[in-house]
Amino acid sequence: KFTLGPKISDWDDQRRRWLDQNPGFPSWRPDGKPRILLVTGSTPNPCENPMCDHYLLKGTKNKIDYCRLHGIEIVYNTAHLDREFAGDWAKLPLIRRLMLSHPEVEWFWWMDSDALFTDMAFEIPLRRYAAHNLVVPGQPDLIFKERSWIGLSTGSFLLRNCQWSLELLDAWAPMGPKGRIRDEAGKMLTANLKDRPAFEADDQSALIYLLLRQQERWGGKVYIENSYRLHGYWVGLVDRYEEMMEKHHTGSGNGRWPFVTHFVGCKPCGSQGDYPVERCFNSMERAFNFADNQVLRMYGFSHENLTSAMISRTEEQTSTPLEFLERLNLVAGTGSRG
Ligand code: UDP
Ligand code: MN
Repeated sequence: KFTLGPKISDWDDQRRRWLDQNPGFPSWRPDGKPRILLVTGSTPNPCENPMCDHYLLKGTKNKIDYCRLHGIEIVYNTAHLDREFAGDWAKLPLIRRLMLSHPEVEWFWWMDSDALFTDMAFEIPLRRYAAHNLVVPGQPDLIFKERSWIGLSTGSFLLRNCQWSLELLDAWAPMGPKGRIRDEAGKMLTANLKDRPAFEADDQSALIYLLLRQQERWGGKVYIENSYRLHGYWVGLVDRYEEMMEKHHTGSGNGRWPFVTHFVGCKPCGSQGDYPVERCFNSMERAFNFADNQVLRMYGFSHENLTSAMISRTEEQTSTPLEFLERLNLVAGTGSRG
């Protein structure tokens, strides 16, 4: 049977022992929150269109900002750790490798390069997932009743560092190897999932298919999240940011501001996408500026509008800046530095 590496059957014990022997690297932070590593990346080579690299950079800046404000560490990968798993599938061997190298990390949070944080104050309600190992945005009905290939998204999901997750990765991987295997599996997925276009097997369809086929085996530990946008499909969001700014504010909760705006189908680096590239770039610029305003606000600046890289001052300059720190915090009045 196919695996991503040597079989490990006692990871929970190995990890527990390591944590006991390395008290300097606890899996919980001093503030009582579990340690999270945000994992993202892009192709080893330059994008065909230099503008695509520009938006990869902005997507990276956006993630660095969010992670800095919330004490999350970040890994940006540009290598193909396993050539068979090039492309969308690269996240599988990567997450496995990081899991084994970072026993101190409790949650690995994969986020696509084309997904942006758009509610910078929101924090994932991790306590809700205490009994779960995989947290993935989706709609149970779409997955289990309609067998839809977009019933969930693997553009932004969390995976706990544990034996169960290693086994999930092994069960998820067999359709990944490039070439004949991936091509044949793609046909099978298109035949079995609703509305799936004909193309090679992708990691998202493969995960949906796995959950459908082996619901008993995996279902209990999978949390399908839709109470906020762990991944928000950009179409239908990017044109409403002004309206959102009028009605709500960062961190309002209940998904009033989309936590993540994901440019599914835009293929920001090269290959043929489903949308005109200009529309993708304009929309990415809006999402980036919407998020960047939330960061710039702390320093007394704001973009003049969501389509402009130009910024202007929103605060008078002062010789006693510390008096205003609190008011300018991301979440005003909470005393938090993030
Ligand atoms: N990716 C990567 N290395 C590669 C190719 C892709 O790390 O060589 C990652 C990248 O972060 C990208 C993600 O895989 O965002 C998934 O691809 P994409 O976002 O284009 O797919 P979509 O969201 O449109 O389905
Ligand atoms: Mn994506």
